[in-house]
Amino acid sequence: MSFLLFRASFLSRSSFSNRPIHLNAKNTLCTSTCGRLSAAGNRENMEIAPSNTNKVSVAAAAINDQEFSPELLRFFYNRLFPYQPMFKWLSYGNDPDNDAAHIVRDYFACREFSFTINDDIYIRYQSFRDASEMESAIQKKQPHKIDIGAVFTLPPKDHHTVKAEAFKPVERELIFDIDMTDYDDIRSCCTGAKICPKCWVFMTMAVKVVDTALREDFGFRYILWVYSGRRGVHCWVCDPNARALSNDGRSAVVEYLSLPRGNEKSKGKNGGLSWPLHPSFTRAFDILEPMFESGVLGEAGQGVLDSENSWDTLLDTLPDEDLANRLRREMRRLTNAQDRWLEIKSQVRAASSAHASGNARRQSRGGRAGNGLFALDLWKYEVVFQYCYPRLDVNVSKGTNHLLKSPFAVHPKTGRVCVPIDPEDVDNFDPFRVPTLKALAAQIDAYDAQNAQNASAKALPDYKKTELKSAVELLERCVVDPVALATKRRLKLEREKEAAMIGDF
Ligand SMILES: [Zn+2]
Repeated sequence: MSFLLFRASFLSRSSFSNRPIHLNAKNTLCTSTCGRLSAAGNRENMEIAPSNTNKVSVAAAAINDQEFSPELLRFFYNRLFPYQPMFKWLSYGNDPDNDAAHIVRDYFACREFSFTINDDIYIRYQSFRDASEMESAIQKKQPHKIDIGAVFTLPPKDHHTVKAEAFKPVERELIFDIDMTDYDDIRSCCTGAKICPKCWVFMTMAVKVVDTALREDFGFRYILWVYSGRRGVHCWVCDPNARALSNDGRSAVVEYLSLPRGNEKSKGKNGGLSWPLHPSFTRAFDILEPMFESGVLGEAGQGVLDSENSWDTLLDTLPDEDLANRLRREMRRLTNAQDRWLEIKSQVRAASSAHASGNARRQSRGGRAGNGLFALDLWKYEVVFQYCYPRLDVNVSKGTNHLLKSPFAVHPKTGRVCVPIDPEDVDNFDPFRVPTLKALAAQIDAYDAQNAQNASAKALPDYKKTELKSAVELLERCVVDPVALATKRRLKLEREKEAAMIGDF
């Protein structure tokens, strides 16, 4: 944590209040003083679809050819949503039916869920005793979107029974939201909500850099990465000390994981780096540069060194004009982006050494960029970070009370399920191969047809007949199982402590 203390700048504590909500530009829920949707926001007794306790058939779900429809959603909530694993995760071993000491039996009941119905009605402060209550509510209300909020001082559904100051968020996972729209200024392939394999590499990079920093610099272990269903990724850090962070602590972590604010005069680059670089930046560079070379520079990426126009733009940012002019001539001679990058790095290194001789660097003001000492040394880091460094949505991370879309929710625009991502295999995660509701329905059909004579296979939980099986197993591997083990150890320790105090060995 020493790096954190060194670099953290603490933001002011954001206050909590019982405000109506609306969707912000990035489609995440936030509290707001805006009253536009206040009436809808509190419609807890709104008219809702009747509960369906019978199994919804595949045929009924697939009545049209869309990837998303009310029928498919009903089918998904009826047969596929992993209620039990989600409950196990979010209760952290605090089972309301467990009578043992030191179990916080209303822990899960104090968790806020928020539903979006039909894309425009937001119902906050939903809470459930256990998995089966959660299942009934979801099946009854058929939310198009499910968000998860904080654990409060009392069950959120009862928040109106106490004064506002008695209803406070007390705990929540440390969360991160990385959205492709934040990369629009450097994407040449797509804009807005559109993504393609060329720009998805930015999400892969973000997962690698943030995941490494969370584990190596903060020691966090229970980390869940989730595809947002369309154009980004979410991260849930579930370690007890992460869940207990104050708003200031959350701000400090997200500040640590972000680049220093750029110098506006440095032509739009992230000119806020200074020498010597913090070790987390040199580590990030080592992760990012190979991916920058293979996935960003050339035609297969964003074409940064692919044409005269593009390399001119890049070389304009060099803090040595003579060097930039020499390199412009070299660029034309070389035939591919990777060779051009190698040449640039090699000449920048040589120029930097020349500056260093005679201790010239120490007297230099760093050339025309005015970026202080060692501007040439910093330049390659700035270039790579400008394209590749994770762009976090700070506002999502810094508030204990911020809601974030639930894993295994479905994106209504794509019909894709928000499945967990394995950070160790993130290179192979392909958002275009994430199953849609329609594909999942077809997978159940195919499995049942193949196992028509096998009663035990047919009786499997439906998600185990589909690609969701591995997605649920990943949730279990990343958070459910290790947290269950940690809870078991904690309870054993508590019992031993008590036994020691009363001399009962
Ligand atoms: Zn793209």
